[in-house]
Amino acid sequence: MTQTVPDERGRFGPYGGAFVPEILVPELIALEKAFRTAWTSKTFRAECTALLHTYVGRPTPLTFAERLSGRLGDIRIYLKREDLCHTGAHKINNTIGQILLARDMGKTRIIAETGAGQHGVATATVAARFGLRCIVYMGAVDIRRQALNVARMKLLGAEVRAATSGSQTLKDATNEAIRDWVSHPRDTFYIIGSVVGPHPYPMMVRNFHRIIGEETRTQLIQATGRSAPEALVACVGGGSNAIGIFYSFIDNPAVRLFGVEAAGEGLNARHAATLSLGRPGVLHGAMSYLLQDAQGQVELAHSISAGLDYPGVGPEHAWLKDLGRVHYLSVTDQEALEGVRMLSETEGIIPALETAHAIAALERIIPRVAPGGTFVVNCSGRGDKDMDTIMAHAA
Ligand SMILES: *Cc1c(COP(=O)(O)O)cnc(C)c1O
Repeated sequence: MTQTVPDERGRFGPYGGAFVPEILVPELIALEKAFRTAWTSKTFRAECTALLHTYVGRPTPLTFAERLSGRLGDIRIYLKREDLCHTGAHKINNTIGQILLARDMGKTRIIAETGAGQHGVATATVAARFGLRCIVYMGAVDIRRQALNVARMKLLGAEVRAATSGSQTLKDATNEAIRDWVSHPRDTFYIIGSVVGPHPYPMMVRNFHRIIGEETRTQLIQATGRSAPEALVACVGGGSNAIGIFYSFIDNPAVRLFGVEAAGEGLNARHAATLSLGRPGVLHGAMSYLLQDAQGQVELAHSISAGLDYPGVGPEHAWLKDLGRVHYLSVTDQEALEGVRMLSETEGIIPALETAHAIAALERIIPRVAPGGTFVVNCSGRGDKDMDTIMAHAA
């Protein structure tokens, strides 16, 4: 059976681990201890669940996509509606969990990295809710490109600090956040936004998103009388929404799992297809697949969707790829735009560009699964934030 619990060194097979400056080692050990205590504490779990109900809006619905199914063939497609979470995507499941941990650990200062600003907004939101000081690192280029999310974070009381090194995007913002943590390890809690970074983050963030798959299982029984679908499909940036919906089904080999990466302008051009074309290496504290050149320098990723535009990927996905448990494929910017249109027209749901990658992959995935099958697509976020990009490409 697939073993996806990290070992005591935080490894998923050869991947994961904690490659960090020495000063952070005791912080990571303390974090792991706090997390393990919290995860088995009835009080912590009850508080987390209550916030997910009353603040985030969980459980999110499982919607039968009748007209999309009809368009794509002899198949029943369900959508897990993470787009209906407060702030518009799955990311807040994780920031709720981490802010509760930060509070329990007595931390007074929250830091986060963000690319397009979605994780920054999800972090600023929960920091406001708990009255904690919040600093979000963001590449200077991204600050210019994502003015709306910068304004949101500021309105929520967060300070947005520009990362001006390198490409001035997510990778550099992450470096700045790590540097900040190294300088203020005692009072600072670093909220990482996906199943990436040093151990225990990949395990911890995954556990905070497991609720997606757990709800899906219960809702599938109500909707279909069966507890498992033929296939699950999710987009993969760092991999948090995907592992969140996959996790409850990983032990059942009858459920096919598909992760969809961004092929950007094409696999021969600029892309973010880390698992499809990357090689193992160390980035941001963990060993995983990584886009790198012949000298091992990290390459810039590209995707039309900011949430998939990252040259790394979570170590558990690297391991699931090597095990052959999850099939990873990739979808171009153009195909993703068509995915947005297809879901909007057939279901009246405008998905995020990230989510649209999973939608666009369906045409290729369906022939690989027996006719009449039930599919669940993780609808990771809504498309409001992407309307400018979508309009620019529709012209
Ligand atoms: C951030 C984001 C993603 C990508 O992150 P994962 O960690 O891979 O889930 C996907 N969809 C949406 C809507 C996002 O905001």
